[in-house]
Amino acid sequence: MKRIIQKITSLRILNKKAKKQDFELEGVGLAVCSVCGAVWSKKSWHHKEKYSEDELEQIKNKAIKKICPACIMEKENLCEGFVTLKNVPEDKKDELLNLIEHIGERAYKNDVLCRISKIEEERNKNIQICVTENQLAVSLGKQIKNAFNSSLDISWPEGDGPVRVVCEFKKE
Ligand SMILES: [Zn+2]
Repeated sequence: MKRIIQKITSLRILNKKAKKQDFELEGVGLAVCSVCGAVWSKKSWHHKEKYSEDELEQIKNKAIKKICPACIMEKENLCEGFVTLKNVPEDKKDELLNLIEHIGERAYKNDVLCRISKIEEERNKNIQICVTENQLAVSLGKQIKNAFNSSLDISWPEGDGPVRVVCEFKKE
């Protein structure tokens, strides 16, 4: 697992960059992300799996190459939401990580830009999750609370910063 190095200031800059890129794409009919292959069409990003091989061929001929906002965020170590899990009991960890993975996969299926970009266990044993959409952070927090009866604390930023979600497991 990689180390997470993020600062709110750089996050703000990146969010703006990602949004600006979307704005620039407003005038673009078709684009393909050169990292993940997502397709920009009708003013939003879509999974490439949505298209047949023939359609993808045609799209690639017409599209310009861009990097989608989620890949920019992953590349630059930035995110829209942090989830911190405290006091995770050793014997619940596998079950917990399976749930997180499952939630992440489902979110990604629904929205190609919605991703868990990093899961890291810190030296103090807290687990940190970084996600590319703030709603995914909130959803992770709520579902972890429901499944494990943890506490749930959600702090929305003032302005452009990331949402911070903390779930603390009860000591048994
Ligand atoms: Zn991408």
